[in-house]
Amino acid sequence: MPRSLNRATIAIAAGRQAPTPDGPLSEPITLASTFHAGGPNGYARDGHPGWAAFEEAIGTLDGGHAVAFSTGMAACSAVLDELPVGATVVAPHEVYMGVRQLLEEAQGGGRLDTRWVDITDTAATLAVTEGADLLWLETPLNPLLSVGDLPALIAGARDLDVPVAVDATVASPMLLRPLELGATWSVHSATKFIAGHTDLLMGVTVTADAREAQRLRHHREIRGATPGALETFLALRGLRTLPLRMERAQANALALAHRLAAHPDVERVRYPGLPDDPGHDRAHAFMDGPGAVLSFEVEGGAQRADAVCHACELFAYATSFGGVESTMERRARWPQERGVPDALIRVNVGCEDVEDLWADLEAALRVSGDPRRQEALGAAPSSRG
Ligand SMILES: *Cc1c(COP(=O)(O)O)cnc(C)c1O
Repeated sequence: MPRSLNRATIAIAAGRQAPTPDGPLSEPITLASTFHAGGPNGYARDGHPGWAAFEEAIGTLDGGHAVAFSTGMAACSAVLDELPVGATVVAPHEVYMGVRQLLEEAQGGGRLDTRWVDITDTAATLAVTEGADLLWLETPLNPLLSVGDLPALIAGARDLDVPVAVDATVASPMLLRPLELGATWSVHSATKFIAGHTDLLMGVTVTADAREAQRLRHHREIRGATPGALETFLALRGLRTLPLRMERAQANALALAHRLAAHPDVERVRYPGLPDDPGHDRAHAFMDGPGAVLSFEVEGGAQRADAVCHACELFAYATSFGGVESTMERRARWPQERGVPDALIRVNVGCEDVEDLWADLEAALRVSGDPRRQEALGAAPSSRG
């Protein structure tokens, strides 16, 4: 696969077998736990033709060797669990809550020591990175959507001989390629934009270092965090439309962000696509777009925010993002989420018609502003989630 192809082409063309008469165009689902001896796989925990196709496609997009995992957390763990006991990690305060819990538990058990930092402050981040064993970055951060200066952070960490991992889940491989900036690992929860249809869990870790890729495969093999054949098939099928989905969802997100920012009941919108967002200039410098996830805070606190989520009909009140369907949630409803304003609503802007989405959102803001309706909405059964 020539690397000079545009990524919108790679997403469609990579990860296919050489043409043979009557051979399928797409990698078929192979349901097998074991294979006849003599090939590269042997046993399906060690290798699988579906993984190879998916990994070739993601690896070509990201510019490295991709290793697929059962979930995004397994992809993150494949980097973090291999650090030696007593290693020091530098990580953002606002890191994805699953990774934060993993690091906190490793700290509690005396396995890892984490220095928490505001990664939007490059100088402060590099100051604590000196002498550390890993700099863990995430951009844009989920759910506050702040943007670290990745080129400066990665170059600075390399000068200090500290390897860097970047969780690029919110951006997806269409908008951000950390390996090109010099990171050692790029990590994605493929559950989100890559698969794109809210029907599976998967993860992928990518590295430009062939020996490190071999270590990641070994980790997967002996820990057993292997993706299923159906999931891998669906994730590759989802990847084929990632460029189109991202284009549409991102255009929708930008339009909604502008309209929300102009709405009298909205206190703040966080979205790097807005010209006055603190992450705007950075995102434009090294990302190929601001993405399709935004957060906003509504006047009236948590109760109003819950009421907005329940009043929406097109936006499902559900966690996660990256699917074609629009979803939203009041993020602080999760007890393990920290440092997130109570009234903050994280929105996954999907691929529906933007006028339908805005009509839904505007109506929800209107009815949630009525105190009587608000109480009824707050008592909706799904608020137990
Ligand atoms: C969802 C997510 C993960 C974890 O992925 P799973 O597939 O849910 O295990 C990791 N990092 C970020 C930024 C995420 O949004």
